[in-house]
Amino acid sequence: RQKELEGLRGLPAVTRDNVTIVLNANIGLVSDVRVANMHGAEGVGLYRTEFPYMTRSTFPDRHQQAAVYRKILEAFSGQSVNIRTLDIGGDKALPYFSCPHEENPFLGWRSIRVSLERQDIFREQLAGILLSSPAGTPSIMFPLISSVDEIRQVKEILASVREELELEGHELREDIPLGIMIEIPAAVQIIEHLLKEVDYVSIGTNDLIQYTLAADRNNPRVKQYYDPYHPAVLQSIKRVADAATKAGKKASVCGEMATEPINALLMVGMGIREFSLSAPSIPVVKQAIRSHSIPECRTLARQVLACASSVDIRRKLDEARKKLL
Ligand code: PEP
Ligand code: MG
Repeated sequence: RQKELEGLRGLPAVTRDNVTIVLNANIGLVSDVRVANMHGAEGVGLYRTEFPYMTRSTFPDRHQQAAVYRKILEAFSGQSVNIRTLDIGGDKALPYFSCPHEENPFLGWRSIRVSLERQDIFREQLAGILLSSPAGTPSIMFPLISSVDEIRQVKEILASVREELELEGHELREDIPLGIMIEIPAAVQIIEHLLKEVDYVSIGTNDLIQYTLAADRNNPRVKQYYDPYHPAVLQSIKRVADAATKAGKKASVCGEMATEPINALLMVGMGIREFSLSAPSIPVVKQAIRSHSIPECRTLARQVLACASSVDIRRKLDEARKKLL
């Protein structure tokens, strides 16, 4: 089985009826690049930039950040690298940056909210990304977006950082696609409006599940409530996939949920054509995709989306797993 999976490395993830599915890797550190390559990642769908911040004792400046981003871009030459801006707070702390004590950190000051308030930090990071941009094909993604106004604010800041760097004489890449993560139920509700503001969206199921079901992703006491198979979660993914298809824009999935092959097939059936996975799960997901057709995936999605309960959905998926995998 292992040999068979290794043999898939150089093969594309195409369905039996020849539809291409893009399988990118989630990465955090420069050392993840090798693992991503080893498993045949086609690019980076989620580069969690907080990791290089976490391994230091002070905030890196724009040049230090650019040096790290450049390494990643060069390692994926000719492939897209989706750089996500700082996503601290909630469960991710930086030793040299004190977040205020909060009753509910996951509902508090985290992620893009920190960036929008601490624009000194945000501008430094955007400058680092822009400075590194000629080294490859980056796109920039903003986490935890809940409104159109946040996107407009972010774009304004980015434009101003770009202008400043260009005035200093830096050559920057012109065409950098901008995307947002869909992780908050409010973003799902207004997805059509959000899609008008960006080039692509990526569904972060880790957070989307927690916020849709009001169940902390790290709290074992409410583990049974943190349920990827709750119909509300699956309907949300479908809603985003449909809206993106209609708008002619890309919706990928970058949460852990897609690492399970049957879930990936289910989401292909909902219209998702791109995933970003932890690299070691790329081969099994690729194998599942290569063994099935779009109509099979659609049938599975139709059956699952018709279910009213998680128990029913799990039963359907168990049956499908036996039949399909
Ligand atoms: C997510 O929320 O699904 C996600 C991919 O981001 P993170 O796990 O870094 O919050
Ligand atoms: Mg997240």
